[in-house]
Amino acid sequence: MKIIVAKNAGFCFGVKRAMEIAFENVEKHKGKKIKMLREIIHNPLEVKKLNDSGIKCVDKIDEIRNGEYAIISAHGITLNEERILKNKNVKIIDTTCPYVKKIHNIVKVLNLENCQIVVIGDKEHYEVKGIIGHSGNNTLVISSEKDLENIKLDKKIGIVSQTTQNIETFQNLLSALLKIALNQGVMEIKIFNTICDATQKRQEETKSIAKEADVMIIIGGKNSANTRRLFDICKEILKDVYHIESEKELKKLWFKNKKVVGVSAGASTSEESIKNVINKILSYGEK
Ligand code: SF4
Repeated sequence: MKIIVAKNAGFCFGVKRAMEIAFENVEKHKGKKIKMLREIIHNPLEVKKLNDSGIKCVDKIDEIRNGEYAIISAHGITLNEERILKNKNVKIIDTTCPYVKKIHNIVKVLNLENCQIVVIGDKEHYEVKGIIGHSGNNTLVISSEKDLENIKLDKKIGIVSQTTQNIETFQNLLSALLKIALNQGVMEIKIFNTICDATQKRQEETKSIAKEADVMIIIGGKNSANTRRLFDICKEILKDVYHIESEKELKKLWFKNKKVVGVSAGASTSEESIKNVINKILSYGEK
């Protein structure tokens, strides 16, 4: 059995950076009250490591009290949340990925230019909520073709994408949106491809491995949007695709009569998790 592992699988620059900042600060402020506002990255195993070092993860901003420390996730927060934390004199440990910060800056400028902002991404994802929180009230989020029905665009629009968006979905929604914009007489359209480089490379590599493989294993949090997108990309090519969080979920049956196994992982999956999965798959061949 041959195993092909994606070279771009695992922790991306932004996730690595976020985890390093968090652990450095845990060490630096030992004994202080530190909370994590929502999961720092979408990987339960890595979040647990921070929980084990005494960091409590809270979903609501009200659960962070005056003067405490707060770790902001790699997905970023809204301007309003930033204001609330500053007013409470909370010491912010900001792990927002610079690529996400770049989108916040783009939408700020678009706002000053009186452009209506359109975000192509998942409206339920905290990165997108954070982007909306830096844009004007008139911001639109397009998650699927359905969201394009009955939209009303301004004369000037600026389009950005969620960093982990599937490239093909972005292309398809963008071309449908441009058609509507031209029909509605939009005069100025600015497009920013803000899908991050790490995401593009990982998706392209995963796709080409899926074309060669008989079965694909995608590793990463079930709540991780970028991991789910890798799964969806493979599913379009192959029937046997499995999304797992750890080697414990692997089943020997999945590899029966399979010659080529492809392995890829989301941006928040550690090298250690990938190694554990590969070792377990290899062990099936030994028995
Ligand atoms: S996937 Fe890209 S945008 Fe998201 S954390 Fe990683 S580097 Fe940053």
